[in-house]
Amino acid sequence: MSDNGHKVVELPETLTVRHLAELIHVSPIEVIKQLMANGVMANINQQIDFDTAAVITQELGYEAHLHKDELEAPAAEAEAPAWRRAMEAEDASKFTPRPPVVTILGHVDHGKTSLLDAIRSTDVAGGEAGGITQHIGAYQVQHKERLITFLDTPGHAAFTAMRARGAQVTDIVILVVAADDGVMPQTREAYAHAKAAGVPIVVALNKVDKSNANPDRVKQQLAELGLTPDDWGGDTMVVPVSAKKRSGIDDLLEAIVLTADNTRILANPAGRVIGSVIEAELDRAKGPISTLLVQNGTVHVGDVLVAGTAHGKIRAMYDFRGQPIQEATPSMPATVLGLGDLPQAGDVIEVLPSDREARTLASQRKLSAREALNLPKKALSLEQVFAKFQAGEVKELNLILKADVQGSLEPIVSSLTQLGNADLKVNLLYAETGNITENDVMLASASSAIVIGFNVLVDHAAQRAAESEHVSIRQYDIIYRLMEDVEKALKGLLGPEKREVVIGRADVRAIFSTSRMGKVAGCAVREGELRRNARIRVMRGGQKLFEGEIASLRHEKDDVREIRQGFECGVAVKGFEGFQAGDVLECIVMETV
Ligand code: GDP
Repeated sequence: MSDNGHKVVELPETLTVRHLAELIHVSPIEVIKQLMANGVMANINQQIDFDTAAVITQELGYEAHLHKDELEAPAAEAEAPAWRRAMEAEDASKFTPRPPVVTILGHVDHGKTSLLDAIRSTDVAGGEAGGITQHIGAYQVQHKERLITFLDTPGHAAFTAMRARGAQVTDIVILVVAADDGVMPQTREAYAHAKAAGVPIVVALNKVDKSNANPDRVKQQLAELGLTPDDWGGDTMVVPVSAKKRSGIDDLLEAIVLTADNTRILANPAGRVIGSVIEAELDRAKGPISTLLVQNGTVHVGDVLVAGTAHGKIRAMYDFRGQPIQEATPSMPATVLGLGDLPQAGDVIEVLPSDREARTLASQRKLSAREALNLPKKALSLEQVFAKFQAGEVKELNLILKADVQGSLEPIVSSLTQLGNADLKVNLLYAETGNITENDVMLASASSAIVIGFNVLVDHAAQRAAESEHVSIRQYDIIYRLMEDVEKALKGLLGPEKREVVIGRADVRAIFSTSRMGKVAGCAVREGELRRNARIRVMRGGQKLFEGEIASLRHEKDDVREIRQGFECGVAVKGFEGFQAGDVLECIVMETV
């Protein structure tokens, strides 16, 4: 605190708007607004000097001091897969087997979650009766005297996000394939991810209890994919299971143990600590709580830990059942209290000899992370990207990403940052969850960025701002389409932009059951019109409930092509019957801009 009650913030000689915003914990928009109010027009990547920054911080309740060791720029750390380098440095003669760490991947609805539940309920390691297992991101089960660790966030989103941060904790992947559905797009993706990571795969052929299960067809598909089942002369173990009936689980665990034995999954419990953060969350009462998975060495209560840019002394440690423990050995998930900041999933952990060294390492990392952000960045719009690309001038495509949930954000971010080449790269200004707002558009306009939405809506004000500022907003609901478009944009090949336009809104007044169409919403068109060949978005309390095609549009007894404001109509929507009076139906069409 300074004398005038302002918080003190240390600033360098020059810094970007984004960096300043981060340092004083406000949105970059807030900083841009303050700059504008002071007659300075700046975009998020623009460098401003200390004096300007000091004025802005003052307005926002901070007192700026020039950074003391401004001239001692920290050496940027080469953060290649730290765990691998560290493991290679370990004395191999001291290695002993450790439990394998397993991640479950597979197509949506093929039963990843059900399988995790089924496995968990077979034998939670040393499972005490009635113990309520809390979700900490991992658990262990025992199979014939052998422990197996399962990461319980299924899907390759988490898997890829971890790898993107330089961690790799998974030793074996279980690829779940539903016997009634077979190999699907995400099965292929998951396989590609596991293969890229060099992790062995065991296939769980799930839902074999279903009458339409067709294991042979699925095995055929697996063979075509490159996963030839062992009973067909290949080397992939394909284990029929039913997560629902809880059958085949023992065989699956056996297959994991066999695979582990073939893979030499080793660690030195007395060696240097190497591990990764699996999950981290902020608890109001306890502060940051992080789940770690130790890969080598042993972590003890009282150890001084660095995880990414977070550091601290371990105050307490718990196993996956919430029981206090004093130490965590290799492959044993543990939650720890005592880190000062929230680390990120995938951060590599290290134990340091003293708090001072931990603090130094953590703050060096923070600074180099910021420096990475500080690199001068050029802002360009899509059209400019194309023009400049042709002229050979262009370097970066600025993007702002908004997605529905954290789980979809992370894989998109990690894939996006891998796109491009030496000449042209994606520069992600920021990626957040939530609908696209006016702020996003303002920021995009300030930095000539393109706004990308994944499973989110564009609010009214944002739509208006985008029109007046000529900001491109692109919406997607399929990740690979998004990737494809960004890749095209990077190559200057993006076709005309399609935009979603709400052409009408109707209020649901009553619900009717019909024999032919199921539930039909009786509506009054409040504004614009509804069109038979358009899509309907069912809104409740301002939230999107469903979106799909119109199955039927009627006025009185007649099928109609469109219906205008002020008229009443009956609307049936394909795949949705859960209307309630008070819902609002938005009618949307795609327009080429
Ligand atoms: P995820 O999306 O891969 O996590 O899939 P879920 O575990 O949520 O399962 C999707 C659906 O399949 C749910 O309705 C489950 O009840 C069902 N399901 C999962 N495993 C089985 C199984 O072995 N047999 C049958 N009949 N249904 C299953």
